[in-house]
Amino acid sequence: MRPNMLPYSKQIIDDNDIRAVVDALESKWLTTGPMVELFEVMFCEATGSANAVAVSSGTAALHAAMFAAGIGPDDEVIVPAITFVATANAAVYCGATPVFADVCKDTLLIDPKDVVRKITDQTRAIVAMDYGGQPCDYRALREIADRHGLVLIADACHSLGATYHGNQVGTLADLNCFSLHAVKQITTGEGGVVTTHDSDLAAAMRQFRNHGIDSDHRTRSRKNTHAYQMQTPGFNYRLTDFQCALGLSQLQKLESFTAWRQQVAGLYDELLTSHPLIVPLTSLSDRSNARHLYVVRCETGDAGPSRDAIFDQMRRLDIGVNVHYQPVFQHPFYQRLCGNIDHQCPNAEAAYETILSLPVFPTLDENQVKRVVATLADIVLPSKTVQRNSGLIAG
Ligand SMILES: *Cc1c(COP(=O)(O)O)cnc(C)c1O
Repeated sequence: MRPNMLPYSKQIIDDNDIRAVVDALESKWLTTGPMVELFEVMFCEATGSANAVAVSSGTAALHAAMFAAGIGPDDEVIVPAITFVATANAAVYCGATPVFADVCKDTLLIDPKDVVRKITDQTRAIVAMDYGGQPCDYRALREIADRHGLVLIADACHSLGATYHGNQVGTLADLNCFSLHAVKQITTGEGGVVTTHDSDLAAAMRQFRNHGIDSDHRTRSRKNTHAYQMQTPGFNYRLTDFQCALGLSQLQKLESFTAWRQQVAGLYDELLTSHPLIVPLTSLSDRSNARHLYVVRCETGDAGPSRDAIFDQMRRLDIGVNVHYQPVFQHPFYQRLCGNIDHQCPNAEAAYETILSLPVFPTLDENQVKRVVATLADIVLPSKTVQRNSGLIAG
């Protein structure tokens, strides 16, 4: 990366984080120790959930949730067309087939009406992904899930810290999956968490993250026994104690991180309100947005620069924009698995042509936000010295 590149996201690590990790490294337990449990307890407290299971990534969280939900071969899992590939991959790990539902045009959140259209006799679960940090329409999705006897899973990898109708993300679905990857709301480097109100599901996931074995190392050591039994072929999806120590320290900053992200987004909103061609996604008033991403649609049409031309030019000017995401079914693996399903999710396909994620992270300041908007506006509506249709700024 270029030294002066403003990233689209980055982690914020302070001295307390570093001290917490060093303390854990100097303690007796590097993994399956007391920090894991403590982190889970504090994660429950932060999200208002009853059970939290820490795992090694957001992807592992999705896999564990689908395992606990009993997803298996011959099942279909409805996932949004616009999401990170891991959402759909987790269904594939369980032998199930992901079925892609379209997203709403203005929010890019899964469209409950299209979810209903995609339900078959084989459907077992719906995965709601809180795109950009904004919770999905959980009232509608819960009603659909209950009516059809489906499990509702939240891919909340963007939305830690957000609320829907006053309820916190982490309590909105049967199983709620979080990522603690470096660019997410808080980080443990790599890591993940699943929350659930159901303690049986939590117990199943604790076993699943530990090879399917029914006791962990610390429990056996406490009971002075070597014996254990493996119940199902699980995985090693454990999160280490030093990562949990970092997670605990990061959790204390979740509220201030979220407030900072919301302030950045508020400033973008303000600076872009009257721009005719740069249109931010809609934030709905019945929920709060954790602002993992700040996404605009470049409505430049055929005469103006394409999204990719804007992307290239922004990057050349050291502004780290990004695109979240190409519709998952367009990837070669899903083209082979699901066949060609182009045109079944028209909003997702159209959105992919225009969306651009602008930098948003705690510590991003007002001048940087203004620079991003000014640079973008310059590229989108080039000054008169620039040839029409070129889509590029001279020089
Ligand atoms: C980050 C992310 C994941 C995967 O999380 P990892 O921790 O990187 O495995 C899954 N879904 C969404 C929507 C994400 O943004």
